[in-house]
Amino acid sequence: MKRALITGITGQDGFYLAEYLLGLGYEVHGLARQTGLEHIRSNLLQDVPPELYQRCQLHAVSLDNFPGLYRLISKTPFDECYHLAASSFVGERLADGYQTIQNNIASTHYLLAALNEFQPKCRFYFAGSSEMFGRPKMAPQTEDTPLNPRSAYGISKVAGYHLARNYRESYGMFCGVGILYNHESPRRRPEFVTRKISMAAARISLGATDKLQLGNVEGRRDWGYAPDYVKAMHAILNHDEPKDFVVATGILHSVADICEAAFSHVGLEWRDHVVTSETFYRNEEDVPLVGSALKIEREIGWRPITPFKKIICQMVDADLARLKQPT
Ligand code: NDP
Repeated sequence: MKRALITGITGQDGFYLAEYLLGLGYEVHGLARQTGLEHIRSNLLQDVPPELYQRCQLHAVSLDNFPGLYRLISKTPFDECYHLAASSFVGERLADGYQTIQNNIASTHYLLAALNEFQPKCRFYFAGSSEMFGRPKMAPQTEDTPLNPRSAYGISKVAGYHLARNYRESYGMFCGVGILYNHESPRRRPEFVTRKISMAAARISLGATDKLQLGNVEGRRDWGYAPDYVKAMHAILNHDEPKDFVVATGILHSVADICEAAFSHVGLEWRDHVVTSETFYRNEEDVPLVGSALKIEREIGWRPITPFKKIICQMVDADLARLKQPT
């Protein structure tokens, strides 16, 4: 039986990856902050089936708890380590991003150094991001597109990517990087636009509120489905060679498309309920962030399966179910 360690197991991807690996017969260990563990124990994570985390071995270790990471890595051998934990607020002002840069880079470096010291054969997955391209000069982006990050988060991801590449090239570790574009699900955190819209469509359809404030609804992104994307992570670590792969749908949708899919799913016209406000505007790129997943399809056979509209409708249905749950 293979043993995997997932950092960030309480997050969206951590949940789906744990579910997927358990289904493949893995022994799954997860790192979580004390608060995250408390949420699991008191069943505060929204509609998480309790048995999922009961089937994992959870360790209360924060990213900045180096002695805790050291103890775990020095004692328990892992076949695969998926490093998903990160502060990941793209909208944060660069000048406020000290914690993001510090935590994300230091934890990746520390994890790699500890694995290299105690279990150099453990395969390491780094959660890269399309934000590493920041303001790209060409579209679609590929593994060869120059990195041009424009946020504290993007900068921390570029540094993590270079750390993983250096441990691969200098120490021969199996470090695979997935450069993932936005991916969504009913477990997306509420601050992200897809989830803001799915929650609002659900609430408005039940008469709990009437309006939703958004920024530029013409903003476009490459949105995929989290359960599809965690399969790519596993495939990257189980490939013959450690490499970097763009994981994307290659299709752009606008925020207005999300509104259309979400509101029409509950029989509403989104234009009657969405108010745009400059407070929520983000500067849009001249060249859109859209990825080419040709390399991972050619070399590994992975490709996204779930269509955009189905993802959004599933998110709205899940938010409706949450709202209808007795409190
Ligand atoms: P989430 O925000 O849902 O989850 C992040 C996880 O990281 C949570 O478990 C969180 O714990 C944990 N975490 C954050 N800070 C710390 C810390 N200081 N110590 C310990 N744990 C911490 O993200 P996703 O699951 O969506 O994403 C997973 C990874 O993939 C992230 O690295 C993200 O940057 C990257 N990524 C995601 C994309 C997406 O569209 N979802 C796109 C590209 C990359 P807690 O529950 O305690 O907050």
